[in-house]
Amino acid sequence: MTLHRRNFVTGAVAGGAAATAAAAASTFPKPAIAQDRREWRMVTTWPKNFPGLGTGANILGDLITRMSDGRLSVTVYGAGEIVPAFEAMDAVSNGTVEMGHGAPYYWKGKVDASQYIAATPFGMNAQEQNAWFQYGGGQELADRVYEQMGCKFFPSGNTGTQMGGWFNKEMNTIADYQGLKMRIPGLGGEVVKAAGATVVNLPGGELLAAMQSGAIDAMEWVGPYNDLAFGIYQVAQYYYYPGWHEPATVLDNFINLDAWSELPDDLKAIVEVANTAVNQLVLGEFVARNNAALQSLINEHNVDLRPFPDELLTELGRISGEVLGDLTSADPLSSEVMQSIVSFRSEARAWGNVSERAFAGARDLPFDWVTP
Ligand code: CA
Repeated sequence: MTLHRRNFVTGAVAGGAAATAAAAASTFPKPAIAQDRREWRMVTTWPKNFPGLGTGANILGDLITRMSDGRLSVTVYGAGEIVPAFEAMDAVSNGTVEMGHGAPYYWKGKVDASQYIAATPFGMNAQEQNAWFQYGGGQELADRVYEQMGCKFFPSGNTGTQMGGWFNKEMNTIADYQGLKMRIPGLGGEVVKAAGATVVNLPGGELLAAMQSGAIDAMEWVGPYNDLAFGIYQVAQYYYYPGWHEPATVLDNFINLDAWSELPDDLKAIVEVANTAVNQLVLGEFVARNNAALQSLINEHNVDLRPFPDELLTELGRISGEVLGDLTSADPLSSEVMQSIVSFRSEARAWGNVSERAFAGARDLPFDWVTP
C-alpha cells in the first residue's frame, strides 16, 4: 500500500512537471526568457562588507539573484564605489542605478518625514517597528514618503536597540550636555542640541579621528558589534546605555520607481520576500553578536559600562516630546507619520508591559536555572 502510494505520488509529480515544462516551452520560447534577464546595481551607504550593515545588503542582493535564478541579478557596491555614501539616494532617484541600501534618516534633507521612519527617540523597539510596517500602516506611509524621492521602500534590516554613546566624562544630569561637542545624527541630535550640546554629524569612517583630534568629545555610532569594529574604545572611557535616541533603527532598501513598476509580479514578490528575510537576518546578527563584543570591550579594552541615570533619561524624554512635537508640526507628512507612530507605540507599550517587559523581569528573579 505504501509502495503503491509512493509510486502514485512520484508519477503525479513527474507528470505535472512534464506538463508544466511543455506549457512553459510553448508559452515562453527561449529568446523571450533570455530577454527577461535583468542586471541591477545596488549602491549602499556602508563601507563594503561592513559587519551587519554592508553584509546585510550583500545577502539581499544574493537572495534576489538566487531566488530568481538569475532573472534579476543584483550586484552590490560599497560606499564610494559608484557614488559616495550620502549620494546613494540621488543615484537611485535619477536612475543611475536601480536600487540602494542605507537608513531612512540619511534622506531627511530630501523628504523630512523619512527620519521618523528610521527611529524616534523613546519610540518603538525593532519588533514593534516591524509590526507597525506590517500591520500598523507603516509600509503605506513609508511608500508615500519614498514616492516623493521616486522610490519604492522596503524595511531591510534593523540594528535593534543601539547604545547611548561614548563619553569621556560621567553623565549624571541633563546639565552635563551643556557645551558637549557630540556626534549624534538625526532626531537624537536635535534632542541633545536642545539640551545644550553642540551637535556634529560625521560618517562612521571619520569618527575615531574626530575624537582623537578633539573635534568632538562624545559620540554614538551603533552598538558593541559595530563600535568594537571601529576601535572607538581607544578614544573614550565611558560607554553609556540605553540608546534612547535609537531604540531600534530601520535600514532601507529603496528601488527606482520606474525600475520597480516594470518588474513582473513574480520578481516583485521575490524582492519583497528577500527583504522580509534580510530584515530578520540583520536583526538576528546584531542580537547574536552584540554581547560577545560588549564583553570584549569591558574585559579586554577596560571600557567603563554605565547606565544613564533615570533622572537624566526622564529629562531627555521630556525634551524629546517637545522637539518631536515642534519638528512635526511644521510638516504635514511628518505629522501624519508621527501621529501613526504615537498611536501604534501606545498600543505596543500596553502589550509590551505585560509581555516582553514582564518576562524580562521574571527571568531576572533570583533562582537557579539550568546549569550550563
Ligand atoms: Ca546610531
